[in-house]
Amino acid sequence: MKIVCIGGGPGGLYFAISMKRRDPAHEITVIDRDPVGSTYGWGVAYWDDLLDILYRNDPDSARAVRAGSVVWREQAIHVRDQTAYFGGYGFSTGRAALLDVLSRRARDLGVDVRHGREVDNLCGFDDTDLIVVSDGANSRVRQLGNHYFDTSVTLGENRYIWLGTDKVFTRFTFAFEHTPAGWIWFHAYPSIAEKISTCIVECQPQTWHALGFDSLENPESLRVLENIFARLLDGHSLITKTRGALARWSRFPEVTNKTWYHDNVVLLGDAAHTTHFTIGSGTRLAIADAVALAQNLYEHAEVADALENYDAQRRATLRPIQAAARTSMTWFEHADRYLDRDAVQFAYAMAARHGQQMPWQYQQHLLTQVPAVRKIRHAADSGRRWWRAVRRGELAIAPPSLGVRVSSWR
Ligand SMILES: Cc1cc2nc3c(=O)[nH]c(=O)nc-3n(C[C@H](O)[C@H](O)[C@H](O)COP(=O)(O)OP(=O)(O)OC[C@H]3O[C@@H](n4cnc5c(N)ncnc54)[C@H](O)[C@@H]3O)c2cc1C
Repeated sequence: MKIVCIGGGPGGLYFAISMKRRDPAHEITVIDRDPVGSTYGWGVAYWDDLLDILYRNDPDSARAVRAGSVVWREQAIHVRDQTAYFGGYGFSTGRAALLDVLSRRARDLGVDVRHGREVDNLCGFDDTDLIVVSDGANSRVRQLGNHYFDTSVTLGENRYIWLGTDKVFTRFTFAFEHTPAGWIWFHAYPSIAEKISTCIVECQPQTWHALGFDSLENPESLRVLENIFARLLDGHSLITKTRGALARWSRFPEVTNKTWYHDNVVLLGDAAHTTHFTIGSGTRLAIADAVALAQNLYEHAEVADALENYDAQRRATLRPIQAAARTSMTWFEHADRYLDRDAVQFAYAMAARHGQQMPWQYQQHLLTQVPAVRKIRHAADSGRRWWRAVRRGELAIAPPSLGVRVSSWR
């Protein structure tokens, strides 16, 4: 098949990889508007479920993604000068590093990855069997076919800016600070081991206006934020530039489409659906779309049947996830309602935004605040992490506790 992917983010690149893995004869071109090595955004947080998908589909790139990732253990929630903790663990990697791995792997498999070309219409693709629209939340190509896809885009109320910092966060950290203009907070997690962390700053619109962010230039905005968060950043800097342009304040666009395909044009990743960053799932979902689309094309002789099946499967999967993401986004839009509580109670309310909690979970949350209990949880989490790694084929050896050296085990 002759295939073009418009947009070389994680979704477009991983689709190309997944197709080539199933049939190296496919002729695939990925076109991205940005120059090589340039991207927006910082770290991407993810969990075991993404590694499971990657290892099942393409162990080579899975190993490289894992090698470039950092493990974070537990979450810390700072409210004023108090701190509460949550258990659990996850992984994170730099978005730029992730795209480097995927581009390299796609090229190794024979995909033609082209940079520096912006596609804003479908002229010139007449001889293409399949056009994959993977150009992100503000997809230009999707906008051309809005009436086919029945697209809806709803902007979140809060303002956010996706920054980096040279403060090394080893935990997934939320920090809420009160200013005379209202509450403002950041979500931070490691991106590049022991060097750079992601720091997404968020606040309500009235706070954003009152702090002057609607008129301040980018460097001034950063200085204001560094002052507000000076204590939690330990005097470290915020960084606005990744490898591309300066970060900008935005409102999160929730994108839904009633159908994800028309003729031989199919939506994938953020072009098809977005999920608020407070559930940290967008990259995993784009990659899962990529695998599902490739698998459907592999299983069906006719492209039309494959697209119909992909559309039905993935839209059904996304419905409850988008609902959960919407709830999470709305919770943060009204976070001030809960901020009169102490950090432990506030952190519990934050966890409960995902749904009803059982009474034992509250007791567990209280216990998690005890350092000795957290130590035990870390040990249990390490065991769980090891077991998941063995199960997906990442490790084929005995656990570290048995004294076997596991070099890639971090
Ligand atoms: C603040 C923030 C934090 C996030 N944190 C996480 C997280 O921790 N974990 C997680 O899983 N997800 C996170 N996400 C979501 C994640 O970034 C996206 O869901 C994911 O990148 C979607 O991948 P994609 O390939 O569909 O689109 P994108 O990554 O947006 O890629 C689209 C590509 O298309 C290119 N492009 C755009 N227009 C054109 C055009 N006209 N012509 C050619 N090329 C074009 C762009 O240059 C880009 O490379 C976060 C999102 C935000 C906003």
